[in-house]
Amino acid sequence: MNQPTFYIETFGCQMNKSRSEHIAQVMVQNGYQPAEDQQRADIILFNTCAVREHASEKAISNIQKTIKDLNKISRYPIIVIFGCLGQFLKNRLAERIPTAQIVIGTSNIDRLPQYLKEYLSEKKKIFNFDLQPSSPVFDESGYFRNPSQIFTFLPITYGCNNFCSYCVVPFTTGRQRSKPLSIILKETENIIEEGYKEIILLGQNVNSYGSDLGLKNGFEILLQNIDRNFHDSSIWIRFLTSHPKDMRPSIVDTVKNSSLLARYFHLPIQSGSDQILAAMNRGYTRDHYMGLVHYIRQTLPESGIGTDIIVGFPGETEKDFLASLQIVQEAQFEQTYTYIYSPRSGTAAYQLPDHLPLTEKKKRLHILNQVVSEIHHKKLNSWIGKEVKVMIDQIQEMNASGRTMNNQRIFLPNFNFFPGQMISVRVKRLLKGKLYGELVLS
Ligand code: SAM
Ligand code: SF4
Repeated sequence: MNQPTFYIETFGCQMNKSRSEHIAQVMVQNGYQPAEDQQRADIILFNTCAVREHASEKAISNIQKTIKDLNKISRYPIIVIFGCLGQFLKNRLAERIPTAQIVIGTSNIDRLPQYLKEYLSEKKKIFNFDLQPSSPVFDESGYFRNPSQIFTFLPITYGCNNFCSYCVVPFTTGRQRSKPLSIILKETENIIEEGYKEIILLGQNVNSYGSDLGLKNGFEILLQNIDRNFHDSSIWIRFLTSHPKDMRPSIVDTVKNSSLLARYFHLPIQSGSDQILAAMNRGYTRDHYMGLVHYIRQTLPESGIGTDIIVGFPGETEKDFLASLQIVQEAQFEQTYTYIYSPRSGTAAYQLPDHLPLTEKKKRLHILNQVVSEIHHKKLNSWIGKEVKVMIDQIQEMNASGRTMNNQRIFLPNFNFFPGQMISVRVKRLLKGKLYGELVLS
C-alpha cells in the first residue's frame, strides 16, 4: 500500500516555520510521506498564527477556501489545524471550520500521528487544547529541513514569560522552556554536517535563554559554546528575537568576540513613549533602549539593528506617537516592521479603553512608514561604494543575490555562483529600493 501523504501550510512567524519542520519530521518518522502540493495530499495540516486579528481572519478564510476548492475537484483530505490560533480560539476555531477532523493547540504536536490513527480507526473528530507540554524542558529535536535553502532554523526556546499586555503568545505557547545546551550543540553539529551555511537561533526572547534551566547569562554561555565548538566552520549564526529588557552589553561583547555570530540585532522597541511602554508591560524605558542602541553602535559599528513598532496602542496620545517617531529618528534602524495595534481578547490591554478611531491609527502608521522609508533610503545609499562580503543564497539564470553578515541583501550578475559561496562585492547603485553590486576579483 502507498504511504499516506501530507502537506503543511504555515502561517505566521519563523518560529511557526520551524515548528512545521518539526511536525514534518514527526510525520515522516511515523510513515507519512511529504506531498508536493495540497492537491496530492491525503492529509493537510494548517499551522496557524494568532498574533494579529486581521492576519488570523485571513488565514481562516484561506483555509476555508482551500478546503472548498479541493472539494470542488473531489478531493477530501483529512484536515488538521493546529498552532496558536487553535490554542487561542479553541472550539470556536473548530466551529468556524467544521470540515476539519483534527483541531489542536500548540502543545501536543508529537501526538499527531496517534491522533491521526485514532481518527482513522474511530472516525471521531479530535479536539485537544491542553497547553501542558509533554516535557518540562524544551527537548524537541528533529526537523525536516529544506535542503534547497542555505539557512535553517534552530529553535532554542519555546514559549514566553513576558506577558506584554497586547500579546497572545504567552497564552498560546505557555511559559518559556529552554532547549538544553547539549541538544543545541548536537543539532548545530548535524546542521553543519548537512551543509547549511547559516543557522538562525529562534526564541521569543533569546536573551532570556536558560533562565528556566537555572542559568545566569545563559544566552552568552550558549553563544560562547557554539563559537568554541564550531569556530572553524564557515557558517554564520543569527538569532532572534532580542528583548530590550533582557538584552545586555555582555551579549554584544560575545558577538564581537566571535567570527561566526552575525552583526545584526532584532530589538523590538514597540513604542518610544515611556507611558506606553509601561502600559505595554515591556519592562524598559526609552532611555534604557537608546543606551543599548548606543552600546551596539559603539562596540560593533558595522552592526545592523532592526525593530518592531506598534501604533495606536490604547491611550496612545499624539505626544506618545511623536515620541515613537522621535526614537525612530534617533536610533536610525536598519530595518523596521510597523503594525497597527490589534486588540486580542484575554490580554491585559484588551480591557483598556481604546477610543482612537481606526482612521487616525492608519494615519499614524502612514506617517511612521514614511519616516521609516526615508531613513531606510538614506541607509541604503550609504552602502554605495563599499566593498563587502556577501554570502550568495539566491540564484537565477542571469542574476544572483546574497546577504552581508549584517543582513543587507545585495544583487549582482550571476557568475556561475553556487549557494553558500562567499564573495566580495563592490556596491554600485541603488535602484527601486534594491542595492546592486559587482564582483570584486581577488
Ligand atoms: N517576542 C518578540 C518581542 O518581544 O519582540 C516578538 C514576537 S511577536 C509575535 C512579533 C511582533 O508582533 C511584536 O514585536 C509586536 O510588534 C507585534 N505584535 C504582537 N502582538 C500584537 C498586537 N496585539 N497588535 C499589533 N502588533 C502586535
Ligand atoms: Fe509577545 Fe512580549 Fe513575549 Fe514577545 S516578549 S512574544 S511581544 S509577550
